[in-house]
Amino acid sequence: MSEHCLFCKIAKGEIPSQKAYEDEDIFVFHDIDPAAPVHLLLIPKRHIVSMQDIGANDAAWLGRMMTLIPGLALDNGCRPGPEGGFRLLANSGIDGGQEVAHLHFHIIGGPRPWHKRV
Ligand code: ADP
Repeated sequence: MSEHCLFCKIAKGEIPSQKAYEDEDIFVFHDIDPAAPVHLLLIPKRHIVSMQDIGANDAAWLGRMMTLIPGLALDNGCRPGPEGGFRLLANSGIDGGQEVAHLHFHIIGGPRPWHKRV
């Protein structure tokens, strides 16, 4: 837990969010400013700043998070099959366009056209 981190507070329920999934290591919620009909954020509960800080000890929860993605996408409105799908994105660091300094993966999808450029 990092004291002033927005996503740590969301994972702990100290700041409200629209939760889509939770387990002992992982919290998933809807983006407050969606870039498309479906826009989820997947975060580790533990404070990790970005993908630049990932190491061998993170393989288990990170691997599990990856396996959750297809089901979360479908359950929350992404379409199946080759004409459906979604975008998976992790902005890392300033050069990567990261604004919130707690590692998060975006799942962005739903029927096009999307209103925002992402
Ligand atoms: P960018 O804003 O360029 O996508 P990030 O990859 O750091 O940079 O994404 C941060 C995301 O967090 C944004 O999509 C933003 O809308 C979302 N966000 C910020 N505050 C909240 C919040 N309180 N609840 C849900 N999502 C949030």
